[in-house]
Amino acid sequence: MASLFVFNTPILNSPHGVMLMPLLPNALASVLPTAFDADQRYSVDLHMHSTASDGALSPTDLVTLCAGRGLTHMALTDHDTMEGVEEASRAAQQAGLCLVPGCELSTRWQGINIHVVALMPGGLQGPMIEGLEQQREARIKRAEVIAERLEKMGLPNALEKARAQAGGDRPLGRPDFARALVAEGVVADWAGAFKRYLGSGKKGDVKAHWPEISEAVGWVVASGGVAVLAHPLRYGLTRRKCGLLMDTFMEAGGQGVELVSGQQNPDATRDLARQLVERELYASLGSDFHFPGSHAAPGSMSPVPRTAAPPIWQHPRLAHLRDAPSGMLGAKPLNKLS
Ligand code: AMP
Ligand code: MN
Ligand code: MN
Ligand code: MN
Repeated sequence: MASLFVFNTPILNSPHGVMLMPLLPNALASVLPTAFDADQRYSVDLHMHSTASDGALSPTDLVTLCAGRGLTHMALTDHDTMEGVEEASRAAQQAGLCLVPGCELSTRWQGINIHVVALMPGGLQGPMIEGLEQQREARIKRAEVIAERLEKMGLPNALEKARAQAGGDRPLGRPDFARALVAEGVVADWAGAFKRYLGSGKKGDVKAHWPEISEAVGWVVASGGVAVLAHPLRYGLTRRKCGLLMDTFMEAGGQGVELVSGQQNPDATRDLARQLVERELYASLGSDFHFPGSHAAPGSMSPVPRTAAPPIWQHPRLAHLRDAPSGMLGAKPLNKLS
């Protein structure tokens, strides 16, 4: 069985195809390339969810899974919260991989719900503390509105039912309502719940509570973080409108875009790379992993094309990420989550 190393991550050619194998202690495999110079896969995943939002795995179990899959660098990016980061950073230290604290902010732009990944090397600090508190309150109020609407459409006690699906006391999201709709037999499956009730443009897609994208990007940048436009190909925008979104995002101080998010069409990815290069934006990558058994897994995403767009870890604020030792990124201790 032949083996080769791509940026210190061992890849084994097996009869079943190419597999990423964790043969080295991850701490040794922590040097990242300075450019995306060929169609390639990396041991990095900068967009994943845990039970702190709508993911199925605890932060510890997520980190363990990432380590088992050979990842060396990961970001925890739960929806509008960094509550899972402290636990994840302890697990990352144990597992010897580099964790970037983060979250995925819900925002609004031209009536569309746009997501911004906040990579926060210094942890939760500055205006982000207040920003996440605002997001938490927005999510609580929004859940009440979603529940009222679903009650009118045939799901009595919607709030209690979604709460029961969520378990714990974290603020609710649309996935909790989707599970309640399935459990009550209102729809056959999760996809049907979004298609009929919760997806873009449907009654349960309540966005009014979210801040304008510029405001949210402002929090990130003023708190020592790097703002990354999440999955730009998933909003159903024309190329021109997507360009306008990127321009607005940049004017607010955003500097990175997810060039690869999960599985993407290679032509669309190459075209997106050209748009990033034109704008001198950094390129990020992530699986948007939520739960085992789905099409996504930590570190599983389409290959990054050869591009002149610099990897997000080349951003001065993330410089430690390139050759960080194991554990949490950044010299400062994580501020106590309020
Ligand atoms: P929320 O943060 O409450 O707006 O919920 C957004 C989350 O719902 C996303 O991050 C996905 O996990 C999930 N989601 C959104 N749209 C869909 C869809 N069309 N199908 C399945 N899941 C979706
Ligand atoms: Mn989600
Ligand atoms: Mn998202
Ligand atoms: Mn996500």
